[in-house]
Amino acid sequence: SQAKIFDKDQRVSTTFKDVAGLAEAKQEVEEIVEFLKNPAKYTKLGGKIPKGALLVGPPGTGKTLLAKAVAGEANVPFFSMSGSDFVEMFVGVGASRVRDLFKQAKEKAPCIVFIDEIDAIGRARGRNPNMGSNDERENTLNQLLTEMDGFDTNSGVIILAATNRADILDRALMRAGRFDRQIHVELPDLNERTEIFRVHLRPLKLSEDVKVDFLSKQTPGFSGADIANVCNEAALIAARKNKDSVTKQDFLDAVDRIIGGLEKKNKIIS
Ligand code: ATP
Repeated sequence: SQAKIFDKDQRVSTTFKDVAGLAEAKQEVEEIVEFLKNPAKYTKLGGKIPKGALLVGPPGTGKTLLAKAVAGEANVPFFSMSGSDFVEMFVGVGASRVRDLFKQAKEKAPCIVFIDEIDAIGRARGRNPNMGSNDERENTLNQLLTEMDGFDTNSGVIILAATNRADILDRALMRAGRFDRQIHVELPDLNERTEIFRVHLRPLKLSEDVKVDFLSKQTPGFSGADIANVCNEAALIAARKNKDSVTKQDFLDAVDRIIGGLEKKNKIIS
């Protein structure tokens, strides 16, 4: 449905405090925040801020969260769309949605435009002739390139896009003046998992036997999204058992469930 394409509530309350770990990525987007807050500081010296940055990394590592936090920190509107919304669209619709999105964004500048799963529209053109007509996807991609070229950085629209497949993207997207910066968002290490747990444990009522360091040791290879799931799942398990607080055992059970889910997902893929 039309309503799903654009995020209508363009103000976000997410800030860097909600994003645990990702120290380097945060540092890289800091300058975008600075620019959105005080464009004159940059433009008066003749400098040009990049129009777009590509957030690259595995699923669930916080790319969307980081993009929202940039908008939240700068207190500017956040417009978003997902590349996957554009597959199987009727001819002309994708391109016109892109046009509409940028029109709205330019009216509300300074702002962030976020394109999740950009690989769904940004795959290299003419790559997969057997998959039927890719015309509509290509039209959408071409419209996106046109839009990116058609405005001045100093208009205050900054485009962030996310992908876990930078390798398959059309090179044209990475050309100077488009997504010429890549920001890597990796799976969290032990310390970062601890930080992420701290964020997601905050709203829970915990039993005294729950130790955050123990939880991060139990969860190698987990993404931030997996950790958020563990915390929520543990709370649900405890609630089902009518407990007053969430215990270590509830977390262990939740970790098992998430691992079970991840294994199933991997089996389907391989
Ligand atoms: P995808 O590639 O699947 O779209 P993503 O990288 O955009 O994933 P998000 O959608 O940002 O990941 O993450 C999903 C949820 O996981 C977040 O809303 C948040 O609750 C949690 N999460 C992920 N990474 C972090 C993090 N670094 N700090 C805190 N929470 C995180």
